[in-house]
Amino acid sequence: AQETLFCIGCGAAIQTTDPKAAGYTPASALKKSLASDAQDLYCQRCFRLRHYNEIVPVDLSDDDFRHLLATIREADALVVYVVDIFDLNGSIIPGLQRFVGDNPVLLVGNKEDVLPRQLRRTKLREWMNQQVRAQGIKPVDVALTSAKKGHAIDDLLALIEKYRRGRDVYVVGVTNVGKSTLINRIIANNTGLKDLITTSRFPGTTLDKIEIPLDDGHKMVDTPGIIHPEQMAHVLSGDDLKLVSPQKEIRPKNYQLGNGQTLFLGGVARLDIVDTHKPAGVVYADNNLTLHRTKTENAENFYTKHVGELITPPTGDAVADFPPLVRHEFKTTEISDVVFEGLGWVTVPAETRVAGWAPKGVDVLTRPAMI
Ligand code: GDP
Repeated sequence: AQETLFCIGCGAAIQTTDPKAAGYTPASALKKSLASDAQDLYCQRCFRLRHYNEIVPVDLSDDDFRHLLATIREADALVVYVVDIFDLNGSIIPGLQRFVGDNPVLLVGNKEDVLPRQLRRTKLREWMNQQVRAQGIKPVDVALTSAKKGHAIDDLLALIEKYRRGRDVYVVGVTNVGKSTLINRIIANNTGLKDLITTSRFPGTTLDKIEIPLDDGHKMVDTPGIIHPEQMAHVLSGDDLKLVSPQKEIRPKNYQLGNGQTLFLGGVARLDIVDTHKPAGVVYADNNLTLHRTKTENAENFYTKHVGELITPPTGDAVADFPPLVRHEFKTTEISDVVFEGLGWVTVPAETRVAGWAPKGVDVLTRPAMI
């Protein structure tokens, strides 16, 4: 049997079978490295980080992640909690408040670029604050960033300096919130990272985490993303997921939805107005997602007939395997958003009975209107 080899960057055991798990190295790269008798063996993730200053995310099991969060509770550190503003509910880490212990939490709302400009940013910060407080987290501050566009990265770094007060920093978040993109921006904005790999050795550890050295000898730790099971990301495949993830600023769309009317959001969700006295509805979703209005009594037939053609995604082969839409009924007491996790939301009036449908495994919920 071959002896276990370790990456000299992160300490993960080298393996050649699972590209998404820690320690992955393509078999060809491993062979080459062994043949050249090189002393320094890197996993693919550390290799990319070293050569391209680029972080590649890895998947961790829930148990490993919980173990890692427990080490945060024991540390004296600032916790930077990254969420996707567009999918706040899908960004929640269950039980985070228990894991952070007494450490301060800086909340970062990423993907700011997709929210409509008319939404006042102070209001947005307050709203985010409220939402995470309901989860038992009291952030010391709220920052808004666009990792993709590189917006407000320096402001974020300044806030981190302000609140860490000479301590370490742990960056946490569920997958898909843009944490890797954000960390890559932070690395790009930081100089003196050439020694990154040698300062981030963990011989024998299996938790793949990356430490970015800070000026004062402290470190910023990028923890692996936890998987939030109810995201749209888990029912749509790569190309279809791209079709529903907003890439640009969302243009809200107005629909006068009355009783007995249904609006399809592509083939991935639908909203039925069961009972309202004020026809209305504003859709916040990707600009290119096709919206289709029909009578609720015809909706079922319409869907079966047109999914994958007139209403997409899903597309192609994905149509046959696509989970059935499941109905969730609500009665609003105030003007509210009916949120389809990871897809967007529809704002409906107070005192309205609605049904939101989403693929089995994707949550639908209501909240007081964001805008
Ligand atoms: P991670 O799983 O949290 O590390 O997320 P990634 O960094 O891999 O990003 C997930 C997806 O979100 C990718 O498709 C990114 O291009 C996209 N993304 C990341 N940051 C932003 C952002 O600021 N704005 C927008 N619109 N998309 C982003």
